[in-house]
Amino acid sequence: MKEILYESTRGGERNITASQAVLTGLAKDGGLYVPMTMPALPEDFFERMKDAPYQDVAYEILRLFLSDYTDQELRDCVDLAYDSKFDTPEIVPVNRVGENTYFLELFHGATIAFKDMALSILPHLLTRAAKKNNVQEDVVILTATSGDTGKAAMAGFAGVPGTRIIVFYPKGGVSIVQERQMITQTGDNTAVVAIHGNFDNAQTGVKKMFEDRDLAARLKEAGYVFSSANSINVGRLVPQVAYYVYGYTRLVQKGVLKAGELMDVVVPTGNFGNILAAHYAKQIGTPIDRLVCASNKNKVLFDFFQTGNYDKNREFYLTSSPSMDILISSNLERLIFEVTGRDAEKTADLMNQLKSGGQYQITEEMRAYIADFESGFANEDQVMETIGRVFKDEHYLMDTHTAVAAKVSADYEKRRDNKRPILLASTASPFKFAKSVMSAVDPKYADEDDFKLLDQMCALTGQPRPAAMRDIENAPILHKRECDISQMEQTVCEILGL
Ligand SMILES: *Cc1c(COP(=O)(O)O)cnc(C)c1O
Repeated sequence: MKEILYESTRGGERNITASQAVLTGLAKDGGLYVPMTMPALPEDFFERMKDAPYQDVAYEILRLFLSDYTDQELRDCVDLAYDSKFDTPEIVPVNRVGENTYFLELFHGATIAFKDMALSILPHLLTRAAKKNNVQEDVVILTATSGDTGKAAMAGFAGVPGTRIIVFYPKGGVSIVQERQMITQTGDNTAVVAIHGNFDNAQTGVKKMFEDRDLAARLKEAGYVFSSANSINVGRLVPQVAYYVYGYTRLVQKGVLKAGELMDVVVPTGNFGNILAAHYAKQIGTPIDRLVCASNKNKVLFDFFQTGNYDKNREFYLTSSPSMDILISSNLERLIFEVTGRDAEKTADLMNQLKSGGQYQITEEMRAYIADFESGFANEDQVMETIGRVFKDEHYLMDTHTAVAAKVSADYEKRRDNKRPILLASTASPFKFAKSVMSAVDPKYADEDDFKLLDQMCALTGQPRPAAMRDIENAPILHKRECDISQMEQTVCEILGL
């Protein structure tokens, strides 16, 4: 197996092993780790794997990218991650909706959204990385969340030996269901803190702690080291490549495609992690033609693909697809590194322009490199209309994020001149966004209570409540900590007993 090493997109680090990249998260120069060379799928892969279970496909992809882990370590990680926490043994069902579109359902894990795909395995990759690199300390994960990531990270880390996780969320800034999910989290190694401030305050506070050398020294003395479960971590990106490869194997299995024939992929995009994984899947040899980037009303990425100008100086909208309400798509830096011809200096320059002036422009030559990316966006009315129409026509109920992709996909289908199958990343269960989804089906639901709507959604779809939504109304509240923005560090020390 070819050894894959990693480098920073800003040039400060090279020849980093995969396990070091997983452990460190962000490079010290502020760049993101990328593979220095891309691995490649073996020639007969898709024929061979067309009936293989999800775990086997994931294992093969991890082996390609995380080459300093042993086969046994990766097997163990996969088996611990993709188990009965998922509500179906398929792990990622692929469902045809309409004539030519296949929904890749990434929402069958512990928190019924796609972040579970990576956050179920990251803790295991991280603890093994610590051991391999002779890190003796327990790993402490600090996370600021606007709602979804915190719960998914806690569900992944809960009960994993050698880890602690502390999540900060803005008091009053997350939905009732999201808050309930977090404060009822079990596991002695988990802690949740509501801060008196907004999400940016929480994120800034966490960043400050990461950069605080005195705090790091105190932690080390007490037997702890900080790490991050942020979506820029290689340990989150690589597991996401696996499901695009897996999706392709299912299209071969279903006889929709012969191994080697092309599919298109549509992804509802925020931080650009999910679609970048699809791009990596293509790079290693998955037969993908177009990568369609779908944005909501915060269409900074759509504008970028249309014009080559990335400009975050614009109004920010709160939408019904909150996990895509983002103006700085961090993972785009990895694609920018490629479009500059892997030029770290140019990449750093563009990222500095983004930091200082809020925008940058790439050249025509650079744009040519990403000509296989298509883009589109959906506004709020179009999202609601899409959910209602597809439910009426196909009896398939989708969530608001997936609906952004479905709308963009339908527009794309109209303008292309072929009939390639489309694999559409379906990123959350409709049960997670009951109010928006149910009012898209019928406006009469708009004034009802979120918890009540879950039962009505069961009745409407004939599906049981997902386990993630089953007991949260009555589960005991285990986390009651609150703090001011200025007390975040003190709170961390209290939790860790420093
Ligand atoms: C995080 C998230 C997205 C956006 O994914 P990125 O990797 O940030 O582009 C889309 N849908 C849902 C439900 C999410 O949680």
